[in-house]
Amino acid sequence: AAVKPANFLRTIIERDLEAGTYAGRHFAGTPGDATHHAAGPLDAARVRTRFPPEPNGYLHIGHAKSICLNFGLARDFGGVCHMRFDDTNPEKEEQEYVDGILDAVRWLGFGWDAPDAHAPGQNRSHLFYASSYFDFMYRAAEHLIERSLAYVDEQTPEDMRRNRGDFTTPGTDSPFRSRSPADNLARFREMRAGQHADGAMVLRAKIDMASPNINLRDPALYRIKHAEHHATGTAWCIYPMYTFAHPIEDALERITHSICTLEFEDQRPFYDWLLERLAEGGLLAQPLPKQYEFARLNMTYIITSKRKLKQLVDEGHVSGWDDPRMPTIVGLRRRGYTPESLQLLAERTGASKANSWIDYSWLDIALRDDLEGKAARAMAVIDPIKLVLGNWSEVFGSDDHTEACSAPAHPQRPELGQRQFSLGREVWIERDDFAEQPPKGFFRLFPGNKVRLKYGYVIECTGCEKDADGRITAVLARVVPDTKSGTPGADSVKVKGVITWVGVHDGIAAELRLYDRLFSEAQPDAGGKDFLSALNPASKSVTTGYLEPSLRDLPADQRFQFERHGYFVTDRIDHRADRPVINRITGLKDGWTK
Ligand code: ATP
Ligand code: MG
Ligand code: MG
Repeated sequence: AAVKPANFLRTIIERDLEAGTYAGRHFAGTPGDATHHAAGPLDAARVRTRFPPEPNGYLHIGHAKSICLNFGLARDFGGVCHMRFDDTNPEKEEQEYVDGILDAVRWLGFGWDAPDAHAPGQNRSHLFYASSYFDFMYRAAEHLIERSLAYVDEQTPEDMRRNRGDFTTPGTDSPFRSRSPADNLARFREMRAGQHADGAMVLRAKIDMASPNINLRDPALYRIKHAEHHATGTAWCIYPMYTFAHPIEDALERITHSICTLEFEDQRPFYDWLLERLAEGGLLAQPLPKQYEFARLNMTYIITSKRKLKQLVDEGHVSGWDDPRMPTIVGLRRRGYTPESLQLLAERTGASKANSWIDYSWLDIALRDDLEGKAARAMAVIDPIKLVLGNWSEVFGSDDHTEACSAPAHPQRPELGQRQFSLGREVWIERDDFAEQPPKGFFRLFPGNKVRLKYGYVIECTGCEKDADGRITAVLARVVPDTKSGTPGADSVKVKGVITWVGVHDGIAAELRLYDRLFSEAQPDAGGKDFLSALNPASKSVTTGYLEPSLRDLPADQRFQFERHGYFVTDRIDHRADRPVINRITGLKDGWTK
């Protein structure tokens, strides 16, 4: 059995369950309150995680890792994972992204219910929007003001930045820091009422301007933004900062383990400070959620910066967010990677505290491990050249004769049955299965050599035809009688080479899109390098190939193993039953496919 990789989060959750950390939690909210409906009935002993994307772009493979981790931990420990949109920033968010993210999470194999559909004792996930807590967040802010734990600062953004200090210099108190709670409350209400312009003032926590942790030097809690929000419209002209909103979202939903990437480690003291102050004030219930940080997924040969991915799309280096070479979930999906392969990758990369790089080949290995036992086999010719069997009518009586052949749909799964196809006088073979002058160790077709056409007959090469420019236009051979696979004479002639083929008379022409890594350097954007110069010029090539007739009338999004070639999928968007378009997902072996 596979060994589970190190995952310190599992250990933490196991300990919490054993210690009953979250058993018997009480809930402070009153019915009808934002805090009340959020997490459903009291079943607080359960593990609650969340996946909280900002709906400002398409998800990528790093998000897939976070999704599998959060939903996976909830599943494995009988808990719940909240699908939550962190939609506290009005300007960058769009419904298109909300829909795309939900689609991606669902495709990865995870789901959720509406909060009111929740039933205790069942492993369900819920869908939440941070913007539905705006009222609570506003009350929490007023509460902090009343307790002298927050103040309205009217310094210019430049002064604020300068007075924050840096790693070597402590910060300087704002001249507005000592205002009375009553003054601050009045000013904050003016902010809310729309009486001040964007950037004129902010609400800040009052903590410690000399703290060695810069995140504790009076972080901003609210800013003015006269902007329409996708969910709340124009109801608000002040919006909470992420660092203020996020802990509150977690607490209201009674998240137990709030899992994020390492760059949020320095935010944890503020996360705890805020929730503890609100709990003291009776606005939140103990025990409070705890934040845990893990190392983000870094994978070679890809980039995950949203800005750079957008540049690839905008400048036409790829065909769109779902280009099969993109590391976006929509791109990986279109390329043919399966949800199971991404789950495997997430599991195999574990969760750790140390940043590291995962080689891209891990993704392909996961895909092969998933598809090896599942994908039906078929023969396809990717770079076709015609092979003519000159003695066909001598052996079979007519040039039009065809010989029925068959092969298992899957070598280890007889229950999937047999594929049928036939051999005729002309067949398509791979161009590189013939060599006029064979290099050393070449066992395939060259004049005088015999090979087997897989599942068919042994043939002997007699030469080739060329055009005026010396290009080979056809390979010539003769069929060796009585050597058909599966008949008593099959072993009468020994051959060293077996080649795949497709009949000219029954083969199906298909557009084959051969994809490879988008970048030819392992770390395309390391050290501020121009990532565009690392683009792999051979990341896509398109050919017309031929498929065996068992692949007639395929639906979209169907996966196969083409014998000798690797794993392929019918394109989700462009494939038609009568005009097949097929993507190569990956070859059969590790690393570069060339
Ligand atoms: P932005 O740069 O716009 O903030 P983001 O990449 O942080 O984008 P979010 O929508 O905030 O995207 O991310 C949702 C969740 O996915 C977060 O919890 C984040 O930590 C996690 N996540 C993002 N990138 C990775 C990654 N490479 N590996 C693991 N988790 C990731
Ligand atoms: Mg983010
Ligand atoms: Mg990011």
